[in-house]
Amino acid sequence: MTALADLPIRDELRGLTPYGAPQLNVAVRLNTNENSYPLPLPVAVALEKALSTVVRDLNRYPDREAVALRQDLASYLGHGLTEANTWAANGSNEVQQQLLQAFGGPGRTALGFTPSYSMHPLLCAGTGTAWVAARRGADFDLTPGEAVAQVRAHAPDVVFLCSPNNPTGTALAPDVVAAVLREAGGMVIVDEAYAEFARPGTPSALTLLPEHHRLVVTRTMSKAFAFAGGRVGYLAAHPAVVDAVQLVRLPYHLSTLTQAAARAALGQAAALLSTVDAIKAQRDRIVAELRESGLTVADSDANFVLFGRFDDQAAVWRALLDRGVLVRDVGLAGWLRVTAGTPAETDAFLAAVKEVL
Ligand code: PMP
Repeated sequence: MTALADLPIRDELRGLTPYGAPQLNVAVRLNTNENSYPLPLPVAVALEKALSTVVRDLNRYPDREAVALRQDLASYLGHGLTEANTWAANGSNEVQQQLLQAFGGPGRTALGFTPSYSMHPLLCAGTGTAWVAARRGADFDLTPGEAVAQVRAHAPDVVFLCSPNNPTGTALAPDVVAAVLREAGGMVIVDEAYAEFARPGTPSALTLLPEHHRLVVTRTMSKAFAFAGGRVGYLAAHPAVVDAVQLVRLPYHLSTLTQAAARAALGQAAALLSTVDAIKAQRDRIVAELRESGLTVADSDANFVLFGRFDDQAAVWRALLDRGVLVRDVGLAGWLRVTAGTPAETDAFLAAVKEVL
């Protein structure tokens, strides 16, 4: 029998375990920041129709450049963007992997401000890019001065900013993004997976694209669009950046079915995004009620909330699971993360927390 350790696997992958939250079959699943609402029926019908019109064409490869989908994504984003500014792949994880294949790689470095999205260092490991874990302040804050000093010290080829940040939930102050863009000599990726949930007055880095040609904003249909199972992420950037990712993408990476389904979903954007306000209301309720219970809670611009502090967050995670509520232990000592879902899920989560406390 051959075990993984017996194979001539790359040294930097030795001892690693695959990324992924537990997919447990419990009543209340609030651990992966999905949208808890199933697709509304009219959207499902539109998707079925779109899929049925392409099914007989599956003998042919898909549009390699996904031009029509990129046009639809550009019109959804606005800001004067066109298909030349957008690129799509199987989730924003794949988009970011392509960006690292093009702009990172062996001998190159990427920097991110931890705690942040844990896939960023893993995508670096997979692409042979060295990872620099830059720091945030005590309350997970990041000032322009601190951000610039760390970018200057490491001169990375790629900087990851995540706004709203996962797992803390808080959006970056716009002056941090602007300061990093001024300092960084390489590419700056702003991961805006949760942008649609931001509190009013939080600008998107999309507004900075016209002046910054090394800025890439990544987005996803997995969260606000309730389309995590469809696997569609995308980016907005200068057209030259889109040219760059095309050098590394696999030919026909985005299936005909995915492109058709995503276009149909975008055609129903208003119906799909109608859950965003309801989710934000549950998020604000979770923040308020956890604070009333005496817990420390990070401000959230996302569809999840980071709360603590616990002496043993793993024990609290287990106690919540025993009560049928699955939240996420992101490996941040003292803290847990919960997704904001339906009112009934919030009820179950808050009741379980009160019991455990
Ligand atoms: N960025 C952030 C910050 C995320 O939290 C996630 C999903 N957890 C992603 C990107 C990737 O999402 P997807 O690949 O589904 O687009």
